[in-house]
Amino acid sequence: MDSPLPVNSFSDKRLAAQAMRRIRSLRRRLPGDDPVPIMEVCGTHSHVLGKTGLRELLGDAVEYRSGPGCPVCVTDPTDLDMLVRFALQEKVLVAAYGDLLRVPGTEGSLLEQKARGARVSLVYSALDVLELARQNEKQQVVFAATGFETTAPGTALLILEAKAAGLKNLSVLSLHKLMPPALRQLLSAGRGRIEGLILPGHVSAVTGRRAFDFLASELGCRAVVAGFEPLDVLHATALLLEMAAAGRCAVANAYRRVVSEEGNTAAKEAMAEVFAPEAALWRGLGEIEDSGLGIKPGYAAFDARRRFGLEPGRAPGGGRETCRCGEVLRGAIRPPECPLFGTKCTPAHPQGVCMVSTEGACASYF
Ligand code: SF4
Repeated sequence: MDSPLPVNSFSDKRLAAQAMRRIRSLRRRLPGDDPVPIMEVCGTHSHVLGKTGLRELLGDAVEYRSGPGCPVCVTDPTDLDMLVRFALQEKVLVAAYGDLLRVPGTEGSLLEQKARGARVSLVYSALDVLELARQNEKQQVVFAATGFETTAPGTALLILEAKAAGLKNLSVLSLHKLMPPALRQLLSAGRGRIEGLILPGHVSAVTGRRAFDFLASELGCRAVVAGFEPLDVLHATALLLEMAAAGRCAVANAYRRVVSEEGNTAAKEAMAEVFAPEAALWRGLGEIEDSGLGIKPGYAAFDARRRFGLEPGRAPGGGRETCRCGEVLRGAIRPPECPLFGTKCTPAHPQGVCMVSTEGACASYF
């Protein structure tokens, strides 16, 4: 199952053409005439498909459907509204990654609130927040920590370092999400026409390939861990079709140059030290057991929920009422099926979260 294709870019047209011919030939070995539906779970893969035009180039053989793997997109509107309200409090400075600032909640985005006087600061890494707290000693700095297994280890390190430094004005609102429970929920609810999954390489680098074995062994869904070069995506697609043609169901690793069976032990240990799994709300998927990361009692002093008694706010639906992000995130519709796509909703004027981040499915289609 290892990749026969060298690490390369889509600029290697010969290899790309070869991979596409293989995909079409494998498609012909499967029954029916329709393109085979495959879900790319991760927003970075959606971005690659959009940027290279692979969706259109392979449209006769494969129908790529975006999944719930854009971390900003799956942040529930209730959490966003809580953050917006919080940023308006006296002596509070909210730190967040860039994309989160533009996500529309029921009371506007963090960026809109910033224009009205709320204290909001953009950070590029969790450890930037340490510096921010040191520079703003008279403010309570709250880090809105979003992302999957890829960013959670950085947040764990932030909390460990803040504790070691004895910082009293830094806390974390953990909105982190875990990918395996979300996929279990999505597939258990009935996967419709999805034939196989392309799994995120960076999440798998932390979790290890083995963490996704349940997809095949318990849920009967074939999957391939893939890297982020266009040829990686093509190869993963070919592997999925190869398995389908052979009637085989497995979770393959086509990203062995980065992903091991066990994952990143140091990152997992840091997460296990600071976090414990808890139920979390996902936009489009609802509440999923053990799919979030709560801060353990030993680090309660750095837990913004405990420190400030935060409760999720009100936000029926989130974003604009006609936005269909929830269905996009479940792979139930493609972005162009939303009536606002490309007209009222564009990256310059997003009406919903999937148009905000470059990893959002709607932005990648646009
Ligand atoms: Fe939401 Fe805009 Fe996507 Fe429609 S096109 S689902 S409004 S983000």
